[in-house]
Amino acid sequence: MDFSDTPQEAAFREEVRSWIGANAPEYLIEPLSTSGFGNTRTGEYDLLEEAKKWQKKKAEAGWACIQWPEEDGGRGATPIQSVIWNQEEGVYGRLSGTFIIGQGMCAPTMMAYASEEHKQQYVPRIASGEDIWCQLFSEPHGGSDLAGLRTKAEKDGDEWVINGQKIWTSGAHYSDYGILITRTDPGVAKHKGLTMFFLDMKSPGVEIVPIKQANGDSGFNEVYFDNVRIPDAQRLGGVGEGWKVSLTTLMNERLAIGGGIATGFPEIRELVDSLKLGAGKAIDNPAVRSKLADWYAKSAGLQNTASRAISALSKGEIPGPENSIGKLVAGGMMQDLAKFALDLQGLGGSVMDPDIAAGAARLQAMLMRSPAVRIEGGTDQILRNIISERVLGLPEDMRADKGIPFDQIPTGN
Ligand SMILES: Cc1cc2nc3c(=O)[nH]c(=O)nc-3n(C[C@H](O)[C@H](O)[C@H](O)COP(=O)(O)OP(=O)(O)OC[C@H]3O[C@@H](n4cnc5c(N)ncnc54)[C@H](O)[C@@H]3O)c2cc1C
Repeated sequence: MDFSDTPQEAAFREEVRSWIGANAPEYLIEPLSTSGFGNTRTGEYDLLEEAKKWQKKKAEAGWACIQWPEEDGGRGATPIQSVIWNQEEGVYGRLSGTFIIGQGMCAPTMMAYASEEHKQQYVPRIASGEDIWCQLFSEPHGGSDLAGLRTKAEKDGDEWVINGQKIWTSGAHYSDYGILITRTDPGVAKHKGLTMFFLDMKSPGVEIVPIKQANGDSGFNEVYFDNVRIPDAQRLGGVGEGWKVSLTTLMNERLAIGGGIATGFPEIRELVDSLKLGAGKAIDNPAVRSKLADWYAKSAGLQNTASRAISALSKGEIPGPENSIGKLVAGGMMQDLAKFALDLQGLGGSVMDPDIAAGAARLQAMLMRSPAVRIEGGTDQILRNIISERVLGLPEDMRADKGIPFDQIPTGN
């Protein structure tokens, strides 16, 4: 397979490279280079502000969300041009994490289901980073089994009244809007009684409570709804069709989170080259070399799988369920590799201040981040189910509550 650029792709790459060279915030290269693994650093600068500034600049020059149609704030670029943009944006792409849910999941759902007026009002502002959106799906009773969710929406005139709780909502504390899946009919099978809306996160009755994580950050939240009112005009899709709408969001989630996941291999490779172990360097130790060889084989496999997806995109195909393998392999590998790297450093492995030891801090951030990679956007077990059922054609997972009305499914509470 030949992955080199066609002449048109090479010309496009050159155009991208020269615009980025002339416009990117070079003062952020150093802090962003040591960022990653849920630990985005912008030094003395405010991350949200810097992310918004870069996004706005891109939007004004036509380089935001380039794959979207022009009327939605993009430039109608091909999927392969979008891949080229991401490759060239490189380290500055770390500023885009703030927008991934809005641009990768909420906007495609709005494009597919919002009224024309709402699309024009909201989608271009998602592209330009002026508005940040979040995804209000998971609940204490609805994670992997999202259709088990309990947040209620009840019709009252031209409005819906929402009561319930969401959890793990990334970025809710700085989001302007969110897409929200609710239960509107508990008397039918669980997938059939759901309805989707979008709402202003500043609506009266919305309470956002940040969750403190192991790394000290608070990237996600509990979100409580106490008689929150949403106009019927902000319903996305038909009443009872929320499951179908959510599949649009989740399919895009797989594409947004699934592509190009970091494994930590380049970071450990850099570490063992310089780290002293016994009389020599870690890279010369046979046990270290054997581990590295295993991880190299896995990361090469992931790279080839990603190249296969890019190649499919360039032929106009949409990557399918086989891409679930990327996050499954990368998440587990990152966790193993980070544990090993910290062990190798002995007491030095406990330094987590990047200003003292940038290398160790990155590996620590990786260790803290890796369990989240194995859960967000589908847990390891759910990805295995997808691969076994939809790629390998094995028998379906057991679904004991299939077809039973939601309010008759036995529950512990
Ligand atoms: C960093 C991060 C960010 C997130 N951001 C968001 C967000 O912005 N919005 C949002 O709505 N949600 C978000 N989530 C939530 C995420 O989608 C859920 O955590 C995930 O779907 C798993 O659900 P759960 O936590 O309820 O675990 P559960 O579904 O309760 O799973 C518990 C365990 O049971 C296993 N399990 C469950 N069902 C099966 C099965 N059928 N077969 C085999 N094993 C099974 C799981 O693999 C897991 O090990 C985020 C999560 C993380 C970690």
